[in-house]
Amino acid sequence: MPAPANKGAAPRIGLVSLGCPKALVDSERIVTRLRAEGYELSPSYEGANAVVVNTCGFLNSAKEESLAAIGEALAENGKVIVTGCLGVEADRIRAAHPGVLAITGPHQYEAVIGEVHKAVPRPHDPFLDLVPPQGIRLTPRHYAYLKISEGCNNACSFCIIPALRGRLKSRPIGEVMREAERLVDAGVKELLVISQDTSAYGLDLGYARSAWRGEEREARFLSLAEALGSLGVWVRLHYVYPYPHVDQVLPLMADGKVLPYLDIPFQHASPSVLKAMRRPAHQEKTLDRIRAWRETCPDLAIRSTFIVGFPGETEEDFAALLDWLSEVRLARVGCFKYENVDGAKANALPGHVPEEVKEERHARLMHHQQAISAELLAARIGTESEIIVDEVDEEGAIARSAWDAPEIDGNVYLNGETALQSGDRLRVGIEHADEYDLWGSVAAPSRADRRAELSGV
Ligand code: SF4
Repeated sequence: MPAPANKGAAPRIGLVSLGCPKALVDSERIVTRLRAEGYELSPSYEGANAVVVNTCGFLNSAKEESLAAIGEALAENGKVIVTGCLGVEADRIRAAHPGVLAITGPHQYEAVIGEVHKAVPRPHDPFLDLVPPQGIRLTPRHYAYLKISEGCNNACSFCIIPALRGRLKSRPIGEVMREAERLVDAGVKELLVISQDTSAYGLDLGYARSAWRGEEREARFLSLAEALGSLGVWVRLHYVYPYPHVDQVLPLMADGKVLPYLDIPFQHASPSVLKAMRRPAHQEKTLDRIRAWRETCPDLAIRSTFIVGFPGETEEDFAALLDWLSEVRLARVGCFKYENVDGAKANALPGHVPEEVKEERHARLMHHQQAISAELLAARIGTESEIIVDEVDEEGAIARSAWDAPEIDGNVYLNGETALQSGDRLRVGIEHADEYDLWGSVAAPSRADRRAELSGV
């Protein structure tokens, strides 16, 4: 049961955040607002006066997970407010959990806060000055997600995000850059740019100019990458589509302004499957484009995700995907088995693939890519890489290189480096590799010199 509201003590709200980094950013906004109003956060159900569950509604399995999380919060606490993508299916939530206090949809920050006020009255003396100007973040202190737009103008047949989140709505570049600056001032060393379609940034604004540091800038992908690249921190670009204008950011990567990393959700390589998926940029000459990118920036790492077993995918389509992977040699790959999503157009496509075939293709793709990944990582043994430290324990430091986004990619392990701190950036020599991770040692100059150099002493 929830903790009784202690007289005089700040009310405490629990938060369960499910789903993608975009949902995490929504959770951060809710938390920032609650803290600004004087609420405390509770790390446990027992200590909370109410719980907000930020749900995911992307795949049916994610919906099930969200419903289970709501059920758990109800059983453990009893006062539950639901928000996020699954919130658009209020009837379904109420049918499963009639006891929820309120349901709001994605990005309805005001509505969530209003429901919290009803459930747990707002404290009389908000500690506004306790909220740092960069807001409250749920990621570790040295990296932060930077959301540049909401929604999407595409119409991929397996996806209901445009229906859930609406059409592309970009934030003005001045606003994005001021948030980025606040984060860097607060100690963030790596900015992860997220949206549904990063390369489309600014299209809906007509690339409108806005001011940052006294200079007018266009809300365009390149202009944003240049401005972020001037902040002196790692900048990582997620959810980019291979449109021709993406070529323009490769020189920034070659110059070390932006990390040589592109997260491009290709989803497939067979033209007929891509057409059935209605993917953006599927008619672009992707292989030629990637070759040209690598000429400009040889160290470029491309990460991607793929869906196997899409309706109509034949054995030839799947073989074409494996051949394409052999040719393109992506650094990082994730793979999902196709699932129907309520409301998606792909549900009605002919030729649904049996589960056991999806399973078998998933295993084949992962095995195929594992060999490619092992070769690419083995080639890095004997080289030096700049890394950022995520965690330090009694055995050493766990870090990442430019090739590794947090949570989804590999790690660089530095055994014995217990004196490093999270957020440290330094050069290491790579000594060992497996299919996904690297092991290395701090490169000369000595660690002490390097730390002094890093801290500007
Ligand atoms: S690009 Fe396609 S998959 Fe991505 S959010 Fe838009 S419609 Fe969905």
